[in-house]
Amino acid sequence: LGASLKEVVGGAASKFPWNRSNLPKQLFINNEYVDSQNSKKLKLYNPKDGSEVANDVSLAGEHDIDTAVAAAQAAFPVWRKTPPTVKRDCMLKLADLIEQNGKTFAELTRLTLGAPFGSFGSFEVNLASEALRYFAGWIDKFAGESYPADDGFMKIVRNEPLGVTAGIIPWNGPLGNVGMKAGPALATGNCFILKPSEKTPFGALALGTLIKEAGFPPGVFQVLSGDGTTGALIASHMKIRKVSFTGSTATGRKIQEMAAKSNLKRVTLELGGKSPAVVFDDANLENAITWCVNAICGNSGQVCFAASRVYVQEGIYNKFADGYKEAMEERAKAIGDPDDDSTIMGPLVDKVQFEKVTGFMERGKSQGALLTGGGRVGDKGFFVEPTVFTNVPADAEISRNEIFGPVSVLNSFKTEEEIIAKANDTNFGLMAGVFTQDINKAMRVATEIDSGMVGINCVSLCFLTAPFGGSKESGSGRENAINALRMFTEPKTVMINLTY
Ligand code: NAD
Repeated sequence: LGASLKEVVGGAASKFPWNRSNLPKQLFINNEYVDSQNSKKLKLYNPKDGSEVANDVSLAGEHDIDTAVAAAQAAFPVWRKTPPTVKRDCMLKLADLIEQNGKTFAELTRLTLGAPFGSFGSFEVNLASEALRYFAGWIDKFAGESYPADDGFMKIVRNEPLGVTAGIIPWNGPLGNVGMKAGPALATGNCFILKPSEKTPFGALALGTLIKEAGFPPGVFQVLSGDGTTGALIASHMKIRKVSFTGSTATGRKIQEMAAKSNLKRVTLELGGKSPAVVFDDANLENAITWCVNAICGNSGQVCFAASRVYVQEGIYNKFADGYKEAMEERAKAIGDPDDDSTIMGPLVDKVQFEKVTGFMERGKSQGALLTGGGRVGDKGFFVEPTVFTNVPADAEISRNEIFGPVSVLNSFKTEEEIIAKANDTNFGLMAGVFTQDINKAMRVATEIDSGMVGINCVSLCFLTAPFGGSKESGSGRENAINALRMFTEPKTVMINLTY
């Protein structure tokens, strides 16, 4: 996805007013930009140097959310009955407009996330537009079911939209998550309220202009910037029927509770991970190293499915460790100014994340042996070195907790049985990678690992065409593929009495 974007972005649409010196700061409600009724504002910082970017971005409060929900309720009967071809055209137009303004979107996200355009920035923009296209294609294909009428009753199952739905998204995927959540919500006839992270609101807010231009009726797709208080008001709102959440496990737990305590709204949770990569003696070493490095350094390690635990079989452990160290040190040379399009690796998102990751790094030095990295890069901004610890006990903090930075633990193993137990020794279950040339062994291990996704000779990747999500404390429900459509619909069984 990332690779192809560079060829297609360009020529911003004339009506698109947003850029670095004209940032969108108002809420997008009922197809208009409006001031928040809440006097509290969000402050934003540039992670490359810590400088303030804005201190007056809207933070949606109770009144704003109620207004947006009322607009969505009014729009629902209209959108639900909008012909499939018209729905499709709105979504495709929005995808095209995002792509045409791709560089600006990448710029707006880079400003506060620090993701360079050449790597994660372009991937994100492309994921947003491709997801809208993918789900637009489902609109006239997401058919219901029917069951035999042998007993005299025909049963028809209709996939009904839920009504007002919402997406609460994290800072590390501020655009891709929009497509992955708005796409299935809108395609199935729901109205959708997007709540971007307080750390990366600009890309989402800028969408408003394009939502209107794409032809969505007022109230169908709205954007409310805000922080956790906004998210909590959404999660506990009595008129919102579904929340699709991506973020930390701690917040996911709260959202599930709020949903249960309010109106039992449907909840999809895409949460954290501590994903293992398992490299057997017979693996292609170069391939395994390349995936393992990309899987912990992509977006500076701020990726839910980062391969943060690497296990290598004894026979090739030393060779792997040498190659992995060298490749991580090579990646460290690609750290730089995210505003330079040739930069591959940018800073961590902010001071909070920087202190969290460097704290893990410092404490990790007494939990295992430092193979490479372990410190900050430069003396301003929030850049850190790709870091690997070896010989780390399974109960050490850096073996168990999601660090959400470019930090991995590398350990050896002897047998297949042992590695299955080690890989599963975690509260998380998002992703795993198995590297071997023996397909039977790969399938045995893939079957035994308790996670939502397993890559064979690859790790930490995502397809719109396949279910995405985790088991255990990595979440519940799935995004992408037909699964995402099911998450935004309720099956309604209509029974016809044929004997009447
Ligand atoms: P976070 O949980 O702090 O915040 C996520 C979103 O929830 C933000 O929009 C935030 O404003 C909102 N929020 C915060 N407190 C809330 C509350 N009490 N009620 C409702 N909403 C609230 O997560 P983050 O720091 O933004 O993102 C990093 C986390 O996201 C990591 O744990 C990462 O693994 C996870 N993540 C998971 C996936 C996945 O698909 N599994 C993808 C990306 C990120």
